[in-house]
Amino acid sequence: MIHVDELCSYIRSQFNEPTAFIPLHDPRFIGNEKKYLNECIDTNFVSSVGEFVTRFERMCADYTGAKYAVAAVNGTAALHIALQLSGVQRDDEVLTQALTFIATANAISYTGAHPVFLDVDKDTMGLSPAAVASWLTANAELRDGQPFNRTTGRRIAACVPMHTFGHPVHLDELMEVLEQWNIPLVEDAAESIGSYYKGKHTGTFGKFGVLSFNGNKVITTGGGGMILTNDEDLAREAKHITTQAKIPHAWEFNHDRIGYNYRLTNINAALGCAQLESLPTILSLKRTLAEQYEAFFRNSNWTFFTAPADCVSNYWLNVLIAADRTDRDALLEATNKQGVMTRPIWELMNRLPMFAHCQTDSLENSIWFADRVVNIPSSAIVPNYRKNS
Ligand SMILES: *Cc1c(COP(=O)(O)O)cnc(C)c1O
Repeated sequence: MIHVDELCSYIRSQFNEPTAFIPLHDPRFIGNEKKYLNECIDTNFVSSVGEFVTRFERMCADYTGAKYAVAAVNGTAALHIALQLSGVQRDDEVLTQALTFIATANAISYTGAHPVFLDVDKDTMGLSPAAVASWLTANAELRDGQPFNRTTGRRIAACVPMHTFGHPVHLDELMEVLEQWNIPLVEDAAESIGSYYKGKHTGTFGKFGVLSFNGNKVITTGGGGMILTNDEDLAREAKHITTQAKIPHAWEFNHDRIGYNYRLTNINAALGCAQLESLPTILSLKRTLAEQYEAFFRNSNWTFFTAPADCVSNYWLNVLIAADRTDRDALLEATNKQGVMTRPIWELMNRLPMFAHCQTDSLENSIWFADRVVNIPSSAIVPNYRKNS
């Protein structure tokens, strides 16, 4: 039995912060960040044109093993474009998990499609292939090879699993189900840079994968996102419509369809290049912290959530599983009062007013996690980081 006070002092000793507030996750600028930002200022390339954007895209493709990477202003915008280019249209349906950050459901809504919220697996916290299979069997039919919802009559246009807190979903099993039903896979890998499923980087399995570089993610560009794909035509399309669909010309302003101003600026990309260089260091520090947490909480009253076998997780946000909702609330209350930041998991999407009418399955595991998950401080612990500044 570990008492909350003991938990807080353990976390304080890990972070070497005897009294100061300990955030859930904050960035670590330990490399060339200032140098690259200065280059942007010195060259005047601060905005939508500049060599760091291209360099950052190349680095992300090389790091993840995706053939192509297209930068975007944030992960939500990247997901919007990935869905649109997967062929998702107004009044289609898109399968996803109820237990996710709001951005997943919002991006689906931007296309005019309706999200369907399905359950997660107990061992991944991500979309359950079995839940997808049984929902499809109960609700869908193939018409000329295309999947339709028998009740609503709508086409089922895509499936968006999310690798929760960096733990990969069971991709092999999920892809097998989606292939049977001819449904494109778009991975919300916003939380899972540095996470691998059976040796392959998350976000590179489907038609598209999407990364986020928001301030609270493993590495950050301030705000930013990345569209990953192995399809050259789709990559070109993604670049085109995220940059106002402008036809390249020395001076003419011609645009061949409705595009978006979803560009990542050179400043943000400069930060991204430096952060990506530091990613291996940051990941190894985060994994060390996760290992120590795992040992500390072994055989305690809280369960430390670990990645499923065959997977490498980035341990973006570390998870404790409380006994029940009362235990969860007590833990949240006591830790936050002591300046050790902890957070519950997101409210289930189907419980939010704008998605309350959406279809769901039983969501048994999702509800179980929603009642119990507590995220604890998870930043990479860099010795003496900013102690003197
Ligand atoms: C962070 C995140 C996104 C994208 O967020 P942005 O802040 O727009 O970069 C999308 N989905 C999930 C699950 C996320 O955690």
